[in-house]
Order: sequence, then C-alpha cells, then structure tokens
Amino acid sequence: MQQAVGLRVAYRIKGILLGDPMLFSELSGFYTELESVSSRLTMMEIMGKMFSKIGISEVSAAIYMTEGILLPPFEGLEFGIAEKLMVEAIAKGTGYEKKEVNDLYKKLGDLGSTAESLKSKSHIRRMQEHKYTVNEVYSTMLSIAKESGQGSKDKKITILADLIASSTPQEAKYIVRYPLGALRLGAGDSTILEALSIAYTGSRDAKADLENAYNLCSDLGYVGESLLSNGIKSIKAFKPTLFKPLRPALAERLPTAEEILEKTGGKAAVEQKYDGFRVQIHKKGDRVQIYSRRQENVTEMFPDITAAVRSEIPNESIIFEGEALASNEATGEFLPFQETIQRKRKHGISEKSAELPLSVMAFDILYLDGTEMLTKPYTERRRAIEKLFSNKKVIRPTRMEVISEPKALEEFFEQSVENGLEGIMAKDLSAQYSAGARKFSWIKLKRSYRGELSDTVDLVIVGYYLGKGSRAEFGFGGLLCAVYNEEKDVFETISRIGTGFTESQMQELKEKLSRIKQKSRPPRVDSIVEPDFWVSPKYVVTINADEITRSPMHTCGRSADNAGVESGYALRFPRLVGNETIRSDKGPEDSTTTKEIIEMFKSQKRVGSKP
Ligand code: ATP
Repeated sequence: MQQAVGLRVAYRIKGILLGDPMLFSELSGFYTELESVSSRLTMMEIMGKMFSKIGISEVSAAIYMTEGILLPPFEGLEFGIAEKLMVEAIAKGTGYEKKEVNDLYKKLGDLGSTAESLKSKSHIRRMQEHKYTVNEVYSTMLSIAKESGQGSKDKKITILADLIASSTPQEAKYIVRYPLGALRLGAGDSTILEALSIAYTGSRDAKADLENAYNLCSDLGYVGESLLSNGIKSIKAFKPTLFKPLRPALAERLPTAEEILEKTGGKAAVEQKYDGFRVQIHKKGDRVQIYSRRQENVTEMFPDITAAVRSEIPNESIIFEGEALASNEATGEFLPFQETIQRKRKHGISEKSAELPLSVMAFDILYLDGTEMLTKPYTERRRAIEKLFSNKKVIRPTRMEVISEPKALEEFFEQSVENGLEGIMAKDLSAQYSAGARKFSWIKLKRSYRGELSDTVDLVIVGYYLGKGSRAEFGFGGLLCAVYNEEKDVFETISRIGTGFTESQMQELKEKLSRIKQKSRPPRVDSIVEPDFWVSPKYVVTINADEITRSPMHTCGRSADNAGVESGYALRFPRLVGNETIRSDKGPEDSTTTKEIIEMFKSQKRVGSKP
C-alpha cells in the first residue's frame, strides 16, 4: 500500500514502513498537536498516528526524542546544554541580541516558545533553508553532546545556532526544548509504549509484551527497533541482554508477619535487608559494568567491586544483583548508609575505596553462562547464588532463612533490626524475578515506630512555596509533592510539606528548584492546589508522616466517597526524612504510586498504629 505522508512517499511491506525518511517538520507538527491536548486517549491517538508513519531506520531516534532523552541512562551521554548557552545559540541563530532573547524569555517563561516567536520575526529566517529529517536533527544533537574539552562550548553554540537558523519557527521550538529537557509533550514511557502498540499492532493488546521487553533492557528505542525489524514475535520472545540493565524487581509492603506468610503460601525465604546502594552487575569475560537502581552506569565509582567481580567470579558471563555497602573490616559490622554514601563520588575514587571498601550482598541472579535465570523459581536462583558466592570475600550471599512460622519471622526481623539493619525482605519461594514490577513475590517489612506510617514514601516535587516572613525573603517555604499514577501516567498531588527542613536543605531545594521552575502547571501533573511556582517532575524526596487520610485537596486516588463527595488521599504531619535531601537513585516514575498509597491506607486501617 502506498500512502502520502506530508511531502514524502511512504509505503508498507508486511507492516514495515519504507520510503523517504520522516521530516523533522512532520514530527514537530505531531508534537504541537500533542501539546494542545490533555486527554490521554486523544494523546495516544495522535502518538499512535505519529509512530505509524515512522520507519525502521528512524524509530529509535524518534522514540528517544519523544522521551526527551538522547540515549538510555546506562549510555551515560548527556546534552550538557545549560539555558545560558541556549540563549546564545538562539541569539546567533535568529539574529537578535542576547538581551532581546532574555527579555522575551522572561515574558514567555519558556525558551522554546521564545525561539519560535523570534524565528517568526527573524530577518535571517530560513537563510540556509534546509528540510531536516528526524535522523538529521537527532544525529546533530548526538554530535553536540559528544563535543567536549577546549572550545566545545563555542562549537555547541555554533551547531545549535545553525540548526535554529535553517529551521521553521515550529521546528526551532522543539530544537531548543529537546536538549533542555523541556519538551512538555505530556507523555511518559508508559504512554509511549501504549502508542507503539496501537501504531504497529492496531490495538493496545501488545502493550504488556512491549512493557516486558522494556523492563528487560531499559531501552525504549531498542524495543521499538526490534518491533519494527522482527515483529511482535520478537517482542514476546525478548531476552535479557548483557550490558543492557534490567529494570529492578520491587517489593510490596505488608504490616505483619502473619499477612506476609499468608501471601507467600505459608512459607517464605526471609532475607536480611541491607541499607546501601542497589547494584546490578554485568560481566562477560573481562568486561564488567555496574548499574544503579536507575540504570545509570556507575562502574567508574566502584573499582573495588569491579576487581572483585573479576577475581571472585570465574564464570564467563553473569548478571546479578546485590546491595553494596561499607563495613567495618575489623568487626565485619555493616556501616550506616551515611558512611556508604561517601563512596558515591566523581573525584578521589581510589583513595575513598581504600578507606571505605564495599561488600556486595548478592540477592538475585538473572543470567548465568548463557542460561536465563530470571524465569527460574527463587529457590533455584538462590541455590546458584550460594554456590557462586558462599566462600567469597567481597561478594557474599544475603543472610537468609526459610521460615513458615509468624513467630520465627518476627524473631528474624527483631534480630536484623538489633544488628542495625533496616528490616527484612520476605520472598516467595516459587516466584520468578519480576523485572520492573512491584509484586508480592518480594515483601518488605521495616522498622516502624508507633504513630507513624509503616514505611516512608518517596514523593516527586511538582511545585514549591515561598512561605511567609523570613522564609519568603529566603525564597523557599515548602514543597508541593505528588505520587505517580501508573495507569494514567500522571503525577497526582498528595501533600504540601512545610516542616522538617534544615537550613542547608532549604538552600539546596531553593537552588535546584528555582532552576526548573515554570509559570504553568506541567502537563503530566494533576492538581487542584496551586503552588507559588510549578516545577517539572524531576526530584524525589523521602517523606515520613503520621498517617494517610482522605482529603478533598489532593488528586491522589481521587474518587467519590459514600456521600458522593470527591476526595483523594493526603498525608498527615508530613516531614522530610531520608539520607539525602533529594534521592539520587530515583527518578519521578520511581516515586511511590497511587496504588501503593491506597494499599498503605487500607493496611493502616487494618492494623492501626501497631509497630
Ligand atoms: P523501592 O526500591 O521498593 O522503590 P526504596 O528504594 O525506598 O523502595 P526500600 O523500601 O528500602 O527501598 O527497599 C527496597 C530496596 O532494598 C531494594 O531496592 C534493594 O536496594 C534493597 N535491599 C536490601 N536488601 C535486600 C534484599 N535482601 N533483597 C532485595 N532487596 C534488598
């Protein structure tokens, strides 16, 4: 079948689009449409149409662009473009003075719209008219990011200015917004996955398979490319790949030993829960890479772990997970997180690793010498871990006991807490590893205190307040925070947080948030309340509270109650806690979900404030 797509001719054979590549002007047209709608259904339709017009050679570029990233996080390539640099590029690319760019920016609150507006008036408009393809714009962005060293700033400005000079006003808007991480399309990964399913299979039914593939490689571009090259069959048969980190399996919460054992069929493997960094380690021959919970490549930070993997694991290839933490070499006792965190650094790595060597407490294995392990039951994976690591020095198995009595589980828990650990992880003996999903195959039980939630929650900041009196002068008075609603792919507010900040935390928050503040509500934020400033969902904070209550003020889990009054969930007496002001290991979509809050609310009702 042949179809006219904008100015090009495209046709499909066996569902694969061939023909001329997509022009960036066409993609920008779709982005403008996406920006103007708020209904997720309409958004999905537009995005589905957009992807159905994209061919194999450009699908990964189009997906990364739509995600607002250059490459998946484990590739470690960032744009490295600050607003100031972009202002210079816009000035150069439109022929206006920097001051004129800045003045308009102040008025519009967005550099993309600033560039669009200046381009439509610019006297050097389309001087070197060029019809960019999606791939051309993407590869230019890649080359900008790869520029480093002396003179790189000027080179980046020149390349961006050239792009802006020869683009249309609408294209310029997205050329500016993309590297600044401010596309504002209102689409998260979950929406993109659903749109891909619609575009290439005609229905939403393939979303679960696509999501599974994504969970196994953390690379949406790669998933899209596999889908277009080899069809949905290849997606259904997707396997983990060495050096593409899997998205982590996550734990549910239950408040009592009885409930935990009931959920796991009367018996569970109960492991000690360590408080360090989660690491996923990939090894093939001599090559070793270490990934964080957010799938960033952190290999450089941990030369001691890399060396231990090479010396302690004779196997040719392996993917396994564990918690890395510092311990007192003389006593063997684990050190608190505040000590371990000092190993997260970019400078003085070798000195610090000699001073604070890490152990890796291995808790799962996903791949071993060509065998996919993640689909095997826990018992088999655990056996492999014990066989591999029982007599090793740096990498060791977590302490585990198979338990079937609530009393024994409680004792194991108490003992772990007495030993200074966080609590326990109970694991279903027959369950597979569930990449990227929070399931009852892992259940966490942590220390809890009377009168507090059974667990802290991780919230994403969506706005901030200036506060009153001295705080207003200071420029920071509190946060508006949200949880993630996975089904709707939006962030729903749950709490305003005004207490628990130290002066240095307020300073840090003010500095970080003022850099990303916005005049209008970000598209994926669902809120009834208005903060003084909105911020795009980016930073996650850990919050403790006394309890979860129903509230008409917040959109988290909003529904009509028995009396027909719409209300959501909120936190009572929320306060900032945690080891870091902003969690370095969590992105916005890793924050606590609406579903978890509803579950915590229900279990809070069941057990009251039992410790
Ligand atoms: P989550 O990772 O569930 O979003 P979180 O980051 O707040 O939540 P916790 O609630 O403390 O972390 O618990 C989960 C984390 O516990 C895991 O991501 C892992 O890093 C750590 N962990 C420590 N010991 C174990 C263990 N024995 N088995 C699995 N995970 C463990």
